[in-house]
Amino acid sequence: MVIGIIGGGASGMAAALAAAENPKAEVILLERQARVGRKLQATGNGRCNLSNLHAVKQGYHSREEGFYQYALEKYPPEETLAWFERLGLFTVAEPSGRVYPYSDQANSVVDVLRFALDKPNIQVKLGFEVEKIKKTGDCFLIESREEGLPCDKLIVACGGLAGTKLGGSMSGYKLLRSLGHHCTKLRPALVQLKADWSGLAALKGVRACCRAAIYHDEALFSESRGELQFTEYGLSGPVIFEISRDACQGGGRWTCRLDFLPDKSLDQLEAALLRKQETNLPASELLTGIVHNRLGRVLTQAAGIGGQRWIRALSREDLAAVCRAVKDFEIILTEPMGMDAAQVTAGGIDAGEFHPQTMESRLVPGLYACGEVLDVDGDCGGYNLQWAWSSGRLAGGHGGGLL
Ligand SMILES: Cc1cc2nc3c(=O)[nH]c(=O)nc-3n(C[C@H](O)[C@H](O)[C@H](O)COP(=O)(O)OP(=O)(O)OC[C@H]3O[C@@H](n4cnc5c(N)ncnc54)[C@H](O)[C@@H]3O)c2cc1C
Repeated sequence: MVIGIIGGGASGMAAALAAAENPKAEVILLERQARVGRKLQATGNGRCNLSNLHAVKQGYHSREEGFYQYALEKYPPEETLAWFERLGLFTVAEPSGRVYPYSDQANSVVDVLRFALDKPNIQVKLGFEVEKIKKTGDCFLIESREEGLPCDKLIVACGGLAGTKLGGSMSGYKLLRSLGHHCTKLRPALVQLKADWSGLAALKGVRACCRAAIYHDEALFSESRGELQFTEYGLSGPVIFEISRDACQGGGRWTCRLDFLPDKSLDQLEAALLRKQETNLPASELLTGIVHNRLGRVLTQAAGIGGQRWIRALSREDLAAVCRAVKDFEIILTEPMGMDAAQVTAGGIDAGEFHPQTMESRLVPGLYACGEVLDVDGDCGGYNLQWAWSSGRLAGGHGGGLL
């Protein structure tokens, strides 16, 4: 029995290894890029946050709510880490639950998967871009521009549109649509938000631990606490990825309110600023030692206090304005960055058209899909790769005839 797998990314490699556990299965893994796992190599800022110990049920989104549950319960994070250890990869979990390779290098993850694919019943074809798939009787024909390959079972693991520079494309959606499947609306998720604020240029690259809350027309939309990163265009970092899903979609006024000192009360901050009034320092140093130096200067200016003034000469109102800037700073949001900047695609092929226990299509017997091409996306912190491993192994196990 020949099992064709389109896409040599996280879920496709997991599917290939699961399918090949059946010695009678002949697996062909097709990847259009020059190597497998290209996106995987760039994940987690090159560290690959490959799972999250809390990635069961919560932390996932799909129009077909709960679709992801079976795969994640069959192959939960602990079992996934044991699987990786059998493949030769040691991993380590941070207190937050995020899991990384012990080596701290995404390369290690790609390498152990690549080495594991070196099996007599797995053939990896690189530079093979699938353009069409056809079903004739019980058989599929996978076609590139040059070549046609027949197979008995077909697994589509082409990933989503996010991260276009790393291989994200519409391809998987198009191939599955050609066989009668439907696609929900695609949106960038885990993505930076563009902001309209002149202070950004001076803050590019600055990181701050803060509480961030997104408001839509003055109503709280989402909030969280964690690391924020300023970019040339707006706001980024884990805390923004956590709260930005579906933000700035549709009309209305979108803002982000930031508390740069979530562990200190307004009174504590005020007392610290009053103590600074005993010094002979310029106002530009008012927040030195309290927040990041560059951020401190920008916030002091945003509170209407020029650097030429002296701290000792500031009024109680001036200090109150600075306190407000530190504890409740409002930035106007305009739109999310595009798909090329997004880490994951929200939306995808309608998960309701697949069996959650097998990942097989309800419309086309013998056809399977896994990973990001389906309408499932996870929160920031290893949830998306966990979905890729769990759904890939489930699809491969069933496609390969072992489960
Ligand atoms: C910058 C960045 C950082 C990320 N960091 C993390 C992280 O730390 N933790 C986490 O959990 N998630 C992270 N993600 C998300 C995660 O990488 C993806 O959700 C995951 O890789 C999806 O796996 P997949 O197998 O579905 O798709 P992919 O890994 O994208 O693999 C799909 C593969 O299919 C190939 N392909 C597509 N079409 C065809 C075709 N027609 N013919 C042949 N081959 C084809 C592509 O070239 C690609 O190699 C990150 C994403 C990005 C962009």
